[in-house]
Amino acid sequence: MELAKELRMTTAELVTTLNDLGVKTSGANTLLDSDTANTVREVLGKSSAGKIAEISADATLKEIAEAMGILPNAAVKKMMELGELIAPHQRLAKPLADRLASAYGFTLRTKAEPKHVPAAAARHKGPAGAMQPRPPVVTIMGHVDHGKTSLLDMIRKANVVGGEFGGITQHIGAYQVEVDHKNDSGELEKRKITFLDTPGHEAFTEMRARGASVTDIVILVVAADDGIMPQTVEAINHARAAEVPLIVAINKMDKPDASPDRIKQQLTEHSLVVEEYGGEVIAVPVSAKTGEGISDLLEYVLLLADVGELKADPHGHAEGAIVEAKIAPGRGPVATVLVQSGTLRVGDNLVAGAAYGKVRAMTNERGERMLKALPATPVEVIGLNYAPAAGDAVRVVKDEKEARHIADKQIDKARQTRLAGGMRRVTLDDLSRQASEGIIKDLNLIVKGDVQGSVEAVLGQLNKLEENKTETEVRLSLKLSGAGNINESDISLAVATNAIVIGFNVRADVAAQKAADRDGVDVRLYNIIYDLTADIERAMKGLLTPIYEESPLGKAEVRQQFRTPKGIVIAGSYVTDGKLVRGANVRVLRGKDVVHTGKIDTLRRIKDDAREVAQGFECGIVISDWIDVQVGDIFDCFEMKVVERV
Ligand code: GDP
Repeated sequence: MELAKELRMTTAELVTTLNDLGVKTSGANTLLDSDTANTVREVLGKSSAGKIAEISADATLKEIAEAMGILPNAAVKKMMELGELIAPHQRLAKPLADRLASAYGFTLRTKAEPKHVPAAAARHKGPAGAMQPRPPVVTIMGHVDHGKTSLLDMIRKANVVGGEFGGITQHIGAYQVEVDHKNDSGELEKRKITFLDTPGHEAFTEMRARGASVTDIVILVVAADDGIMPQTVEAINHARAAEVPLIVAINKMDKPDASPDRIKQQLTEHSLVVEEYGGEVIAVPVSAKTGEGISDLLEYVLLLADVGELKADPHGHAEGAIVEAKIAPGRGPVATVLVQSGTLRVGDNLVAGAAYGKVRAMTNERGERMLKALPATPVEVIGLNYAPAAGDAVRVVKDEKEARHIADKQIDKARQTRLAGGMRRVTLDDLSRQASEGIIKDLNLIVKGDVQGSVEAVLGQLNKLEENKTETEVRLSLKLSGAGNINESDISLAVATNAIVIGFNVRADVAAQKAADRDGVDVRLYNIIYDLTADIERAMKGLLTPIYEESPLGKAEVRQQFRTPKGIVIAGSYVTDGKLVRGANVRVLRGKDVVHTGKIDTLRRIKDDAREVAQGFECGIVISDWIDVQVGDIFDCFEMKVVERV
């Protein structure tokens, strides 16, 4: 690093300083922007003159750290080295504060005015005064079978809000737990943590793909008897890309072959250096089976949350993100909203992606009715006109008119994007093919039926498919359901959500049919429920794409070769077996070798074009894009037939 030279220090020293300042480095060639370089110069510049940090009389560890220009968790670590376990929000007595400062070569000077550190404020909107602490939002990630689900279950059971065992009655994609936490004055207080109940990385990446950043902390689960696996690495990369701090939970500690040290070693290979090895990554040994270590894990989550100074403004209109959404039989579209700022209330007019509606009712994960939801609270909302996608931005607007206007604009935008993208028609066959290649994860559907009863019957069947599906199959995601013919607005919605429209005992009206043709929407009509579910099931399994099998047609031997003035080569041939068919596939055999595979472009009997030529006749053959033919070559003609699946 040139800066190291300029400051007459070793690269290693500079890297340490940068790390303390919270700047990520990737070795000596890291490029620093000029602001960072100046900060380093400033921090180090003072050092020769004896560094002074100004703090208020009642400064917390975090404030002191920031006054010295170092990261709060680096200061927490330094305090640990000094033998003191102090949370960032805790105040430091003067002697301790001085010890910390001198460890960094600073002298503290107390200011008369209390100092406000607006560090995290930049992440949120609204005046700093309106900001209030909020619970952290945590996502659990890790390799399959390392215990994500078990850990979520254990945490949920042990720490349900309200204290009742097994109080969570429904899956809404996120839940809050309450943890006993010792505050600064040593008193027990209840603190909340919100968990996204969506193990696996899909939800996390999907939400990020839609621009939603809802996770504050990632818990990376690694099984102590297994080790770092491909999905562990994937999780690390996701967390890094999202710039979300992570805590490692070394799980299955109850197992006899658990070897946490090996895990820590392996983590180092992925630049996650745990505290024992001089790094900053917190690793907590736990067991999702016995419950060991889980309260420590949650305590560390709170510690990390304090470092991040998570705040939100609970005043004003709510903003947030969709965690998940579905069509529930009998209830219509239900969406789990994670409120991120403001307060969401029953009666609010919402826009979520291209969906809108008035909040008719809200429930929490215990099925209790809620009238309002504060930041970091997940609630299930009823009242949207269709089911939006995970990660769609949610916001409350003035009235229904504005909500509809914004939603319509979103639909328009989706259509424009689709037009710009060459208007690829999303068909069930396409989806099925992509499913078989493992490309798509969601099969989005809009279901219309003649009467509500038949719609419910279809939904019931589809839910069954969804429940019984295997992990490799595509997830069904219902966007809208309703009674009545398929109309133009169903098609608009299909465009906006990349959905397929299914009609049961209904048809598409003329305008809808036109719109579907124009916008490339697959509309499928059924009268028999079995046909409908069979198609969808096959699509989910990626089986709709036909399987082709070769079926022989005939053979011909090349006896002569002509070249037209235009350079086209005609093979004068004699059909020895079956027949040759124009447009069919052909393999050219030379001795035992296949020298070419292509299609019969032209087939001629005497001077006339023929569709096919039978055994015992002579013909002229041109193979498309191939002129290498030789006398004696055998043309083996065949077609590809669709094989019926059983
Ligand atoms: P996921 O795929 O990451 O969600 O993993 P699961 O939570 O489904 O767990 C996979 C398997 O490991 C299950 O059979 C669990 O019972 C088991 N398991 C999870 N955590 C522990 C643990 O702490 N100790 C032991 N002995 N088994 C565990």
